[in-house]
Amino acid sequence: MEHTPLTRRALLRTAGLVGGGAVLAHLFPTSVARAYALAQQAPPADPVAAAAATRKQMAATPIEVTKLTDALTMLSGPGGNVVVLTGRDGKVVVDTFIQGAFAPLKQRLDAMGNAPILYVIDTHWHFDHADNNESFRKADAAIIAHENTRKRLSEPHDLLGMHFNPSPAGALPTQTFAQSHTLKLNGEQVDLAHVPPAHTDTDITVHFTRGNVLHMGDLFFNGMYPFIDASTRGNINGMIAAADRALKLVNAATRIVPGHGPLADRGALTRYRDVLVTVRDRVATLKKAGRTEKEVVAAKPTADLDPAWGKGFMMPDVFVGIVYNTL
Ligand SMILES: [Zn+2]
Repeated sequence: MEHTPLTRRALLRTAGLVGGGAVLAHLFPTSVARAYALAQQAPPADPVAAAAATRKQMAATPIEVTKLTDALTMLSGPGGNVVVLTGRDGKVVVDTFIQGAFAPLKQRLDAMGNAPILYVIDTHWHFDHADNNESFRKADAAIIAHENTRKRLSEPHDLLGMHFNPSPAGALPTQTFAQSHTLKLNGEQVDLAHVPPAHTDTDITVHFTRGNVLHMGDLFFNGMYPFIDASTRGNINGMIAAADRALKLVNAATRIVPGHGPLADRGALTRYRDVLVTVRDRVATLKKAGRTEKEVVAAKPTADLDPAWGKGFMMPDVFVGIVYNTL
């Protein structure tokens, strides 16, 4: 039997997802949401081509600039959210967008002053965050990441219907750590901290303690169900633990940068954490009662939450399946 990437059902579901209109576009760039929705339609005819198509679609998303403080800026669009620290000592860039968006990203960074790009930080190994490591290394930046990010980037992976080859040596992190790492520059202290497996087994949080900005990478999808990568040990309980841990780092004034979605605060992170707990508890109850994954998905345990949380990134059925399988 020949597999086609788009079944009729998939097309309808995709249409439904994209049809969210202005609200969705505000929450999450439509082209990125569509790229991920397409990638969730398994099995695609050609996983290598699927990865290329997703990259191409994401790269076309325009970059939006949000000033956080005098020294900190958030860039959003072609991949996971990026945070830039600028100052006399040099620039620090957290996450890197998708390969095809390097030129516009570099242009934005150059416009922020002449100081060199000293450090790039990967929040985790996924391609929409670490895809431009090689280009930044060529621009003489050091790449800092958790040691598992280097390990995962060195392996082949299949994810959301896409295939990724091992990264070339020139695209790997140049400095890794196991638990925590601190950078001091531009009058800022940047605390990097690993969390136990949550979205992946490579996740770190990046805390700008003076600017009071916390970048959570994909531990946080603001206003939508998160993707959890079980293939690299991601799991729902780890996601909840990571959100709880982050809530202890922040205060009411902290600007929280999610991996995907709009800039957030403690209230938004709390609501997200509560949704994860609710979904986990409902799915766990059904699983403990002996229901199969198929039965749990069919029971629509998130139906009341889906209008608000199920339109941004992960389709509810897919998310419920991931929660079931990682409990
Ligand atoms: Zn990710």
